[in-house]
Amino acid sequence: MSRSDAGLPVRFEDVKAAAGRIAGIAHRTPVLRSRTADALTGAQLFFKCENFQRMGAFKFRGAYNALAQFTPAQREGGVIAYSSGNHAQGIALSAQLLGIKAVIVMPSDAPQLKIDATRGYGAEVVLYDRARENREQIGARIAAERGMTLVPPYDHAHVIAGQGTCTMELIEEVGPLDALLVCVGGAGLVSGCALAANAMSPGCEVIGVEPQAGNDVQLSLARGERVHIALPETIADGAQTQQVGALTFPIVQTLVSRIETVTDAQLVDTMRFFAERMKIVVEPTGCLAAAAVLQGQVSLAGKRVGVIISGGNIDALRYAKLLSQSGAREH
Ligand SMILES: *Cc1c(COP(=O)(O)O)cnc(C)c1O
Repeated sequence: MSRSDAGLPVRFEDVKAAAGRIAGIAHRTPVLRSRTADALTGAQLFFKCENFQRMGAFKFRGAYNALAQFTPAQREGGVIAYSSGNHAQGIALSAQLLGIKAVIVMPSDAPQLKIDATRGYGAEVVLYDRARENREQIGARIAAERGMTLVPPYDHAHVIAGQGTCTMELIEEVGPLDALLVCVGGAGLVSGCALAANAMSPGCEVIGVEPQAGNDVQLSLARGERVHIALPETIADGAQTQQVGALTFPIVQTLVSRIETVTDAQLVDTMRFFAERMKIVVEPTGCLAAAAVLQGQVSLAGKRVGVIISGGNIDALRYAKLLSQSGAREH
């Protein structure tokens, strides 16, 4: 039986509407299988490869769904976003496609590849020092000064609905699942995915995966309230969030079974698995969900399991460096 989403801030029908808006614009990303991964885990794993999404991550889905619903006045004023990377690129590309002006507030230590890509999509980038400044305040100030509309990276109904379309596509393609593993930062992705899984594959257990160093959502579920943590130190830069969203938290509480955590070393080993066995480049954050099952954190033997690979944006030198660490431990 699927649970009712009637009381939640976003519903499955919003995910379906988002799918209509992004159709023909976002890629329908491939679902990959691996006999090696299945043999390792005893499960049937279906990897939904958002590393092949436009701009390299699922974030394009939510960003486009949000900008496509701007009023004429909002389109005229432009969009502003703050992000350590992939949301910025998603907003920048969507704005370019829709002919909307975009300003992106990014930390000065964000990966250069992500800063360059954001500028490459025609956005204006404003850098800030994340140790001393508060991006929410900077974003709000510029939004007010320039009459721009702020689209946050996860705590926004249209963003959440857009992210859910990747699980909608996955279940349309492979059929019902026993479990779905999804990486968790501010929980926009897992919220949208849980809405889709709950409606399309009733009984599917949705498991969120966070970096061990930044398990704020796990703590929040345990305490029954949103916990704020210090900036986590992890290579999973897309999941360095300090607090789950006000909109995403009730969705997680209602539709996500539990949160697991994985270490940075497990993420690196998973990146290496993807490179060597499946020939795909996945960024550290994108490995969270897969790491939980491939590294034995969760046991799903005999089950049909969806695994969201959330993104593939990592510059080549950092990628090589991380993979060589994995080799160093082994030899
Ligand atoms: C943003 C991001 C996440 C986390 O998504 P949330 O909606 O914040 O939970 C995971 N992986 C990648 C690659 C991302 O860019």
